[in-house]
Amino acid sequence: MASVVQSNSTSNARSKLKDKADIQKPQVNFKEKINNDPQPFLHKLKEKPYSLNPLSFQERDSHPYEFELENFTPDPIFLDVKNDVPLFPLSKTPLIIVDSTERFEHLLQDLLLQTVIAVDLEHHDSRSYQGITCLMQISTCKSDYIVDTLKLWDQLQPLNQVFCNPKILKIFQAAENDVLWLQRDFGIYVVNLFDTCQAASVLGFERKGLAFLLQHYCQIRISKCYQRADWRIRPLSKEMLNYARGDTHYLIYIYERLKQDLNSCRLRGKLESSIREEGKEGFLEKCQELKSSKANQTTAKNTGVKRMLEVWKNSRSICLRRYKVPPKETYLKSYNNLAQKNKNFNKQQLYALQELCAWRDRVARDEDESPNFVIPNYMLVKITYHLPNNQEGLLHCCSHAPFVQQHLLHIHGIMLKARAINISSSASKEARTTSETKQQYKNDRKRKRTFTFAESSKSRRLTKNRAVKDVSSILKKSARVRKTSRVELTNLACEKKSCATTKKEKPSQSQNM
Ligand code: AMP
Ligand code: MN
Ligand code: ZN
Repeated sequence: MASVVQSNSTSNARSKLKDKADIQKPQVNFKEKINNDPQPFLHKLKEKPYSLNPLSFQERDSHPYEFELENFTPDPIFLDVKNDVPLFPLSKTPLIIVDSTERFEHLLQDLLLQTVIAVDLEHHDSRSYQGITCLMQISTCKSDYIVDTLKLWDQLQPLNQVFCNPKILKIFQAAENDVLWLQRDFGIYVVNLFDTCQAASVLGFERKGLAFLLQHYCQIRISKCYQRADWRIRPLSKEMLNYARGDTHYLIYIYERLKQDLNSCRLRGKLESSIREEGKEGFLEKCQELKSSKANQTTAKNTGVKRMLEVWKNSRSICLRRYKVPPKETYLKSYNNLAQKNKNFNKQQLYALQELCAWRDRVARDEDESPNFVIPNYMLVKITYHLPNNQEGLLHCCSHAPFVQQHLLHIHGIMLKARAINISSSASKEARTTSETKQQYKNDRKRKRTFTFAESSKSRRLTKNRAVKDVSSILKKSARVRKTSRVELTNLACEKKSCATTKKEKPSQSQNM
């Protein structure tokens, strides 16, 4: 445990710093390289505990526990409602860090003895294309476990003995993503899930988040400040560990309380409607009446069970979700989103925007990075807005973007093709071949009809120094002098020059990629 926990205050400051610094990507240590190709996702199951239907290796793109889930109903013991439920504070519960094979074995043995456990995951997706699960928190009624999933990445599948065991209930809060992350990273599936968020929904709660449920049932206020933390950091600070265990520690208690409410909800609903119908005066009498009436009690009990079963049914639908690798067209989402936000973009800019979105998606998959890490949206829009017609100009638009520097020629090619588009006709017909756009580029330089900030003496000096702090202020100044935007001028230049147009050529990928 000591190897992960740090308790002094500097550890917090350090982890915050590390958050921003370049942590070594944990993926490099995974035995199996992450594949981001837009192919159907194939399940990773090596064996199938609690199988009712043999594991199919022919249909590896199907859900291996579909049959078991479709035939699943919770054991009646789970529908029992306890009147007194103990709530153990964090301070009285041991925290066990699982970061070795030995400790994992111990965890597994303990979990196999349980009937109810609570589970949550922490995830990271800034330096990974599909995202990686960084932590798995598991609470039993006696202990809180934190599993270092980055360290035990290839060894976690035996957890299916617990997660696929219908006699062991798994409580999650809002499990939609968790079930997919478990499939994607570890080949883990969940049979017998109770999602507390689904229970809150059946109860008609307006707020269904963990923060609300904790406040409502445990009178505990939590800060979700670490929700977006970099969970790859090791060692984890004490604060981060506390935050992480807090996500599962109270779930078993909340589950019992939710069941109480689900069970009594119908009764309450009846009382409430009778209040509405008869006014306040009849409330107590009505309450007595309902309580003493055996028939009503039976109805209420049945309805309570129905409500509980509804939660299990909705939770089962979540378990039936199947992970999918983002398809090839994923980049179009970013494109549409950015195009929507930049409605004044012309055809040249829209062409560049789409090509850059496609480029960044390809690079992100190849390098296992998030598209936004390859190039953030604001930078992508900046390049697209200015369409720099030389490489210096491009670099001015995006300092600190290593992937842009690496792929400069390719991006430059996109710029030239974009610039060659005749603004008054369709983009697909008017893109010129690379040689023509190069000629256009030369002509443009010669005639100096368009302005590029990289060509201004001021910005050239800055390029040399590689110390451009505020490109936008230079642009603003230049714009004031010329009174017409560069983009407009470029467009005019393109329109005036009535070059013969040729069929659109796909940007060459071999240049840089
Ligand atoms: P949670 O279930 O709240 O612990 O969240 C699980 C993971 O989802 C976190 O580790 C984050 O990676 C991600 N996540 C949760 N909430 C947010 C949010 N508001 N913004 C971005 N990512 C989030
Ligand atoms: Mn969660
Ligand atoms: Zn969490």
